[in-house]
Amino acid sequence: MKYVSTRGQAETLDFEGATLAGLARDGGLYVPDSIPALSSDVIRAMRGQSYADVAFTVIQPFVGGVIDDSVLKAMIEETYSETVFRHAAVAPLVQLGSNDWLLELFHGPTLAFKDFALQLLGRFFDHFIAKRGKTLTILGATSGDTGSAAIEACRGRNNITIYMLHPKDRVSDVQRRQMTTILEPNVVNVAIDGTFDDCQALVKASFNDLAFRDEVGLTAVNSINWARVMAQIVYYFTSAVALGAPDRKISYSVPTGNFGDIYAGYLARAMGLPIERLVIATNSNDILARTLQTGLYARGDVHATISPSMDIQVSSNFERMMFDLSERKGAVINAYMQDFAAHGQIQLSATELEKARSIFLAQQVDDATTKTVMAQLCAKNGYIADPHTAVGLKAAQALPYGQAARVTLSTAHPVKFGAAVQDATGVAPQLPTHLQDLYEREERFMNLPNSCDDLKALVAGRASA
Ligand SMILES: *Cc1c(COP(=O)(O)O)cnc(C)c1O
Repeated sequence: MKYVSTRGQAETLDFEGATLAGLARDGGLYVPDSIPALSSDVIRAMRGQSYADVAFTVIQPFVGGVIDDSVLKAMIEETYSETVFRHAAVAPLVQLGSNDWLLELFHGPTLAFKDFALQLLGRFFDHFIAKRGKTLTILGATSGDTGSAAIEACRGRNNITIYMLHPKDRVSDVQRRQMTTILEPNVVNVAIDGTFDDCQALVKASFNDLAFRDEVGLTAVNSINWARVMAQIVYYFTSAVALGAPDRKISYSVPTGNFGDIYAGYLARAMGLPIERLVIATNSNDILARTLQTGLYARGDVHATISPSMDIQVSSNFERMMFDLSERKGAVINAYMQDFAAHGQIQLSATELEKARSIFLAQQVDDATTKTVMAQLCAKNGYIADPHTAVGLKAAQALPYGQAARVTLSTAHPVKFGAAVQDATGVAPQLPTHLQDLYEREERFMNLPNSCDDLKALVAGRASA
């Protein structure tokens, strides 16, 4: 399997190269040059299989022989084991109504779906750098959940240093503490005076400085890293098969920020899973909902909401989607992204828009509605959902109530957003046992202004120390 850049100008890489590169050198994102198809028989055979077995079937074609099958299988089994994910089903379904389900993706070490990809990515990094005898510098930006999941996946790994930027005072206490209480010396937490988009822009700018990038061996863990998207395809298969696929259609509602999780759903569909519709569920940061309405992908202002992991106006992975919408024309995407850099907007063509609308629906859900959904679910089902999940549940109602099962991705444990949950439901969610003492642990982080020079000085300084 070969990987090409969405902007058509960077060199073609194999799975190992694409995983280590993160962002392509032309500023684009790596995507496989073709999407492997799984037949109905292969999908049917997943019934009753373990999460790890399904994961191997889905992931193996993308790895393309770069890792021996037996080694890959062992890595996958170790990742999706009960010592990492604290639920025997790994990603259990919970039934909420006659045709409505929740897919709980928060049983990993940091209580959000990001663990699914990052736990595996940490093992890929370890495997590849051990082979190359090199060291890696990981630089990432987080609106909350990526940071803790990436740090958890990399902590104590000898040849990796991880720098994680978060927007100062814009992540929840639990989210911040999950990052800043990891005191291993290879973990550097940085609070940036700015928004998540500012943090993300700093990361992108550092990557685009190719000399700097090579000097410190920079690698990305944000959802621009292909391997992360790939790992997220798996739970669409496990959940759809449990609900009757390939002999029944399934629709998904996905709480969306950077478009990584829902893009994985799109890939599952492209691989042959009978997904009818994918609902892009957003909070009031609605760039994607507006895009689907008007065809104009236009940057707006970032609003702080009670679902902060989706407080994003620029959805990096949408570039991968646009690549497919444009029939995989790198030159088109290159021009689009230049437009976006210069004018903050991209006009999709009529064909592209029509194609997007045939797969996706989009719904914007405001904070007041999100709270109502949490309160009603608590009253009717006795179920406590986190605010991101609640956005997804509301958006799922846009799906026709028909034969296709409606599945909402539950992206985080309610305790990560305890204040908002308590405010809406009157119930204070409890930390699971392994995090019980989180509030007593020591914290460590640095503060930096929103400045790329300061960031590069910090990273280069440590790398040469
Ligand atoms: C990251 C995150 C999202 C958004 O996922 P994307 O892949 O960025 O679209 C939604 N909910 C939670 C809890 C998250 O951590």
